[in-house]
Amino acid sequence: MALTGIQILKMLPKKNCGECDIPTCLAFAMKVAAGQAEIETCPYVSDEAKATIGEASAPPIRTVKIGTGDAQFTAGGETCQFRHEKRFENQTGLAVLIATDEDAASIDGKIKRANDFEYERVGVMMRNNLVAIKDNGGASLADMAKKVMEGAPKQAIILMSDNVDNLKAGAEACGDNKPLLYGATSENADAFVDLAKDTGCVIGVKGKNMDNLVETADKLVAAGVKDMVIDTGARTLRGAFEDNVVARRSAVKEKFKPLGFPTITFPCEMCDDLMMEAMIGSVLIAKYAGITVFSDIQGDVLFPLLLEQLNIFTDPQRPMVVAEDIYPITGPDENSPVLITCNFSLTYFIVSGEIEGSKVPSWLLIKDTEGLSVLTAWAAGKFGADLIAMFVNKSGILDKVKHRELIIPGYLATIKGELEEELPDWTITIGPREAGHLPAFLKEWKPAA
Ligand code: SF4
Repeated sequence: MALTGIQILKMLPKKNCGECDIPTCLAFAMKVAAGQAEIETCPYVSDEAKATIGEASAPPIRTVKIGTGDAQFTAGGETCQFRHEKRFENQTGLAVLIATDEDAASIDGKIKRANDFEYERVGVMMRNNLVAIKDNGGASLADMAKKVMEGAPKQAIILMSDNVDNLKAGAEACGDNKPLLYGATSENADAFVDLAKDTGCVIGVKGKNMDNLVETADKLVAAGVKDMVIDTGARTLRGAFEDNVVARRSAVKEKFKPLGFPTITFPCEMCDDLMMEAMIGSVLIAKYAGITVFSDIQGDVLFPLLLEQLNIFTDPQRPMVVAEDIYPITGPDENSPVLITCNFSLTYFIVSGEIEGSKVPSWLLIKDTEGLSVLTAWAAGKFGADLIAMFVNKSGILDKVKHRELIIPGYLATIKGELEEELPDWTITIGPREAGHLPAFLKEWKPAA
C-alpha cells in the first residue's frame, strides 16, 4: 500500500540538509509520496527504509531499461490511467523489425533508416528507439545484433527467439548494451528464469491470451524475475487495444502485480500494409503500449507517430519553456533590431523561425514568463512593463547594441506608455500581433533616430 508523506518522513534522517535538492525532509517526503522524487536521492536514508519506501512508492507499472548509453530506452514507470490525472512518464518505444533471413539490402536499408531518421520539433530531438531482431534462421542473432549496433548505435535492441541458447549468445554479443530478450511462454518459462539470471536482461513474456500471460508472468515473478515486458498475444487492433486498457487499469487501479509491466505490441503482425501498421500503432501509442514493433520505418509514417508521442507524453502540468536569455539570430550586430517575447517554447520557436526566415539578423530577448504565452503572461502579471524593464536592464543587451529601440509583441500595445516610463532611454516600438508578419516588419525596420 502506498505510504503517506508523513509515514515516509518518519523513516527519513530529518537532517534538513537539502542535499536531495529539496530544502527540507518534509518537502522531500511529500514529493516521494507523490511519485515526484526518488528515495535514493537522499544519501542518508538507511537501506532498510530505502527498501520499505522504495517498494511502497514504486510505480504500479515497473520501469524497465533496455540498452545503455545513447542506446538506452526506458519503458513503463507509469502511475496513472489518464494523462490529465498527472502525466505519462515514458514514451512508447518505436521498433523496426528485422528478420535474420531477410535479404541483405532490406536489412541494410532498415538499419540505415533507423540510424538516420531524426527530427527536431520545439527544441526536442525525436527518433525511433529500438531495432527488433527476429530469429528466423539465416544469420545468427549474435551477428545481426553486432551489425545493428555498428550501423545504428543509438538503437536499443530486442532479440526475439524460441531458442534460449540463441538468445543467450545474442545477449553476450550485445555486451553492456543489454537487449530485451523476447519469447518467454508458459512452456519455456523455467529456461527464461535462468536466462534472466545469467544475462541480467529484461525478459519479454508472450501469452497465448490474457489469462495465460498472467499465469506465466506470475510464475516468472515468483522465480525472482523482476524486469519484464508483457505481450498478451493479441494480433488484432481491437484485441491489443482492449488488452492494453485492461492491463493498465488492472495495474494502476487494482495494483495487480502480474500486469504491472510495460506492454509490447506488434502492428507488424496485424496487417501487411505499412500505412495501416502506422494507424494501428497510433492507436496503441495513445492507449498504453510500452513498445510497438513495425515491419519498417519510413519518414512519412515515423514523423506523425513521433509528433503524436510528443503531444501525449509532454507533462500537462508543466508548460514547455526555453531559458530566459538573449538569443542572437543569424549573426546580429550593434545595429540589429531587438525584439522581446515570452518563454513559452512554442512562441519562441515560431518567433525565432520567422526572424530567421526574414534573414534580418536580430536579437531576441526571451523573458521568463513561466511558460505562459504573451497575453496570458501579461494578464497573470508576469509580463508587465516593470518586469520587462527590469529584465532589459539586467539582460546585457545594453552592451550589445548602440541603439535603444525595443520591439514588443503587438498584443502588448497597451503597455507601450508604461514601458516608456520604465525605460526612459528606450524607444518602444509595437511589433506585429502575428509572428507571420515579422519578416515584412523587420525588412522595413530602421533604428529610430
Ligand atoms: Fe532530508 Fe535527506 Fe533531503 Fe537531507 S537529503 S533534506 S536528510 S531528505
